[in-house]
Amino acid sequence: MSNPLYDALIAPHRGQGTPFLVMADGTTLTHADFVALAGTYASALDKLGVAAGDRVAVHIQKSADALALYVGCLQVGAVYLPLNTAYTPTELSYFIADSDASVFVCDPQEVNDVAPIASENNVILKTMDATGHGSLKDEASALPVREEIASRGADDIAALLYTSGTTGRSKGAMLTHRNLLSNAEALVDIWHFTDRDVLLHALPIFHSHGLFVASNVTLLAGGAMIWLPKFDADTVIACLPAATAMMGVPTFYTRLLDDDRFDRALTEHMRVFISGSAPLLAETHDRFAARTGHRILERYGMTETSMNTSNPYDGPRRAGTVGFPLPDVEAKVCNPETGETLPTGEIGVLEVRGPNVFKGYWKMPEKTAEELRENGFFITGDLAKVDSDGYISIVGRGKDLIISGGYNIYPKEIELFLDDLPGVFESAVVGAPHPDFGESVVAVLVPEAGATIDIAVIEAETRDKLAGFKRPRHFEILTALPRNTMGKVQKNTLRDQVQTVFR
Ligand code: ATP
Ligand code: MG
Repeated sequence: MSNPLYDALIAPHRGQGTPFLVMADGTTLTHADFVALAGTYASALDKLGVAAGDRVAVHIQKSADALALYVGCLQVGAVYLPLNTAYTPTELSYFIADSDASVFVCDPQEVNDVAPIASENNVILKTMDATGHGSLKDEASALPVREEIASRGADDIAALLYTSGTTGRSKGAMLTHRNLLSNAEALVDIWHFTDRDVLLHALPIFHSHGLFVASNVTLLAGGAMIWLPKFDADTVIACLPAATAMMGVPTFYTRLLDDDRFDRALTEHMRVFISGSAPLLAETHDRFAARTGHRILERYGMTETSMNTSNPYDGPRRAGTVGFPLPDVEAKVCNPETGETLPTGEIGVLEVRGPNVFKGYWKMPEKTAEELRENGFFITGDLAKVDSDGYISIVGRGKDLIISGGYNIYPKEIELFLDDLPGVFESAVVGAPHPDFGESVVAVLVPEAGATIDIAVIEAETRDKLAGFKRPRHFEILTALPRNTMGKVQKNTLRDQVQTVFR
């Protein structure tokens, strides 16, 4: 009888009085408290009739109880399915129907909106609020801590995680015990996590980053987490002195850099700052290093694979790159048409293989067959190149590539150029249909605080320094780029907005 994730991540902490979750107000849950709390959720799920392999979907705020519910699912062998807290009831109905969940836990405030969806899909509905209270806790706290651990194999599904929906409809990625455990083991090892670490955790836990990268790694290493409901610069700055490590999306780091209190003295004791989920600008990396003396450790991953590459902990961390493949991951840059490996330095589609690569998309066998090769390589859809030292750079997404008059245009190259022009804080480049070229380039610019952008100046610069086919032929100015909670720029939204500018 074994349960790979539970055995490695949870069982060793039974009865341990060491701190595990530290709230912003200092309230602390020990490892023993946490394992016991999870055991009451396992009892509640069992009583509701949840069996191994059943999906338990949750649409709840981040709390200690929410994390304990994830572990309760592992204990009874259920498949944990967290949903983005930003989803509306209309969006939820798709996920509930698609996942065929047996239990759905929602926020008490939305229970009236969700009840009809639950009854239509024959799902048991329970509630949990931002403090962990609700009908599920009422049932769990009346039950004894469950002792039994469901037996699961390495290839059994532990979680169904939907992708962020940046390039289209979200797809459910089936992640097995082996996928998640192998990744946590690799990351603990390469990032040197130990039971002395205290991770500042301000990420959401409905996404791979906050749930698997941050929480699984800390659980495996036996460390603690400062458990913040969301990112708030004041709270993060107040909590940093007690932390040893922080993981964040790039916007966390730019917001901290906007605050004068964030300096060398505040961060001197920190062991590491890690970034991912969206590209970290080299400029942010450099500003961070100049301000604090720390080089942010950037890594790259996705829902389907967890982490694939990371900059080195000990060796040089190169700004604008995502480092090397993890020790048990193979990565290659391929010609998108033929699938052949390209020579060093050329841009192509990144493919990865390893124990981290998911089992396939939930109920989408055709999509799975399109993206997961028979030889085990997963076609990430990201464009990348490898330099002569083996560092990988993500150049953008295949779907964002602009093909104009037969030329390939990589938006990132133009964005980096525009970002350096006077008055420009950041930019996004997308393609729009064009009667002559098929597609042409549109640049969306965001001005620096207090600055105005003179488009005539920008146009003159692009005329001087960019090849004709790469030059933006239309400019838009926005006060901010549309971003989701993970800091990803929503290029689909931008593309929709500029559909007709050349027509
Ligand atoms: P969908 O697949 O539904 O369109 P998504 O790809 O945004 O959404 P996620 O799995 O959350 O969903 O995100 C993975 C993607 O995030 C990667 O494929 C990559 O494009 C991007 N990403 C993650 N880390 C980095 C990084 N360090 N640098 C650049 N891009 C990154
Ligand atoms: Mg994706």
